[in-house]
Amino acid sequence: MSTRLRDLPSVDRVLSEERIVRLIARYSRRAVTDLVRAEMAACREAIGIGGPVPALAEIAAAIERRASDRWKEWPGGVINATGVILHTNLGRAPLSRAALDAAERTSAGYNDLELDMETGKRGSRQAHLSRLVCEVTGAAAAMAVNNNASAMLVGLAAVAAGKEVIVSRGEAVEIGGGFRIPDVLGQSGATLVEVGTTNRTYTRDYANAITENTGAILSVHSSNFLVSGFTHSPDLQELVRLGAERNIPVMHDLGSGCLLDTADFGLAHEPMPQESMAAGVSLAFFSGDKLLGGPQAGIIIGNEALVSDVSSHPLARAVRIDKAGISALSATLMHYIKEEATSEIPVWRMISRTTSDIGSTADRWAESIGQGCNVVDGLSTIGGGSLPGEVINSRLVRLGSTGRTGGTDALAQRLRSGVNPVLGRIEDDSVLLDPRTVLPGQEDTLLKTVSHALNS
Ligand SMILES: *Cc1c(COP(=O)(O)O)cnc(C)c1O
Repeated sequence: MSTRLRDLPSVDRVLSEERIVRLIARYSRRAVTDLVRAEMAACREAIGIGGPVPALAEIAAAIERRASDRWKEWPGGVINATGVILHTNLGRAPLSRAALDAAERTSAGYNDLELDMETGKRGSRQAHLSRLVCEVTGAAAAMAVNNNASAMLVGLAAVAAGKEVIVSRGEAVEIGGGFRIPDVLGQSGATLVEVGTTNRTYTRDYANAITENTGAILSVHSSNFLVSGFTHSPDLQELVRLGAERNIPVMHDLGSGCLLDTADFGLAHEPMPQESMAAGVSLAFFSGDKLLGGPQAGIIIGNEALVSDVSSHPLARAVRIDKAGISALSATLMHYIKEEATSEIPVWRMISRTTSDIGSTADRWAESIGQGCNVVDGLSTIGGGSLPGEVINSRLVRLGSTGRTGGTDALAQRLRSGVNPVLGRIEDDSVLLDPRTVLPGQEDTLLKTVSHALNS
């Protein structure tokens, strides 16, 4: 065995191999040397259990693979042809051009993030953004944090730590990715008091659960599941009235941050932050990167006293929003103020695209792809924990052939591999492509990937 190990080239020999020299030029000598050592150790191990001695070219190729795998730009872009507009696995909402530009300018240089330019003294990173949030939601006060989960965590900690929070049994749920309302409540230092039943909870159930230890009533929007049939949950206004009578703040986890009425787009009505404020909710929470269409963020709106309590809680510092997020969020909110959300914010542009417009894109793709594909009626979905079960009519390209090798799954896999991955969806043993979620400018790349996948 030791004689076979001696047939392996030395680390120095590998480092002087032409392809490895190119890798060193691209990355650094030290980083590549570490990869070479790791690969040589793997070779020795493989030889130790009886494997063949690899040639220098094979070793170099393996090192190139290690480098491109470990040091690739990540996350890598994908073309979303699934028709799911908000997909947590795909990074949720794509940003508008203005939001991207704002984030780039803020990140590239210095800025007055926490400097009051008039006095030259320390300023607030929240003040400007907070005014914009109030303007679009009608809230008296607002602040933004890292994401909605942390908004709830710091909100509950500031208002209800050491106290009881009353939640309907049907709303003490898991939102996704292991995020469970009871767990967040526990982490905030509050105690969960569940009332009602999974399908039916009445205002009187909350009223009966109020004690001198009650810190808040929490209403959670069921954004990722449907309770249908024999159900009842109290109207937000009823809860607010109860809260006012008993002097208990009512909190509302909205989930999505939907600032436009989805009913205007032929969808079920998604609760809106404006409605929550109009109903008199004390504190509401929502995400920046769901239907709001902005960057990852958690937004807290409500009455001045409570928002002030939240902003001065020590956890607020731990979950604060970064400068790129603040600028992208502010730019996104400006689209609502300028009433241009449906033309500028990608998720709203997708939602408002007509079926006939999508149909003509689908027809163009089908003609270009050929190979027996056709255009069929289908459905796009909102996804991302918004409007469960709600769909929008669309026109989809159904790939007729599955290519030279393998079936539907193999074709979907080939579409995902390569430099410009395309994600379709599989239904009835066909791969379907929905133009609704494909961004302007991605069409040519998508068609190239599809043609390559069908012909290999
Ligand atoms: C998505 C969602 C959350 C979590 O928001 P993040 O921004 O992902 O932290 C919390 N509550 C509801 C109802 C949601 O839909």
